[in-house]
Amino acid sequence: MQEQQALQTVHEVFAHLLKLLSDARCQTGYEMICANGNVHLCFPKLFCWLTDHMENATIHAVASNCCFVCIVPVEKLGKYSETDYPRHSHANYITAYWESDTLSLNEQGVKNINNPLWSLPELNPQI
Ligand SMILES: [Zn+2]
Repeated sequence: MQEQQALQTVHEVFAHLLKLLSDARCQTGYEMICANGNVHLCFPKLFCWLTDHMENATIHAVASNCCFVCIVPVEKLGKYSETDYPRHSHANYITAYWESDTLSLNEQGVKNINNPLWSLPELNPQI
């Protein structure tokens, strides 16, 4: 329980840092002043976040023995496979979290916290 609260606190910090990327104006654009004085309509996006596996597990709130991109069975994690496993569904995780469906989250190795990354438009984690 203490670990889950600590993880939720980390994600509340993420939510604060990423607020600009998930609000309604992100879809319509922000007017930003360029160094040359011109005003441009900008659409901020999270492009890259370099981490190791354990940091990704924390950021994506998955168990340390799970892939943060797809739902590969634990026994096949790290092994070559020509099978494409289904990607994590952030929309489903949002629903499961708000419905307190911990079982569904746990079955896919996802921790029961409110993860702000699930609400970022066009978030597409890659390895
Ligand atoms: Zn994977």
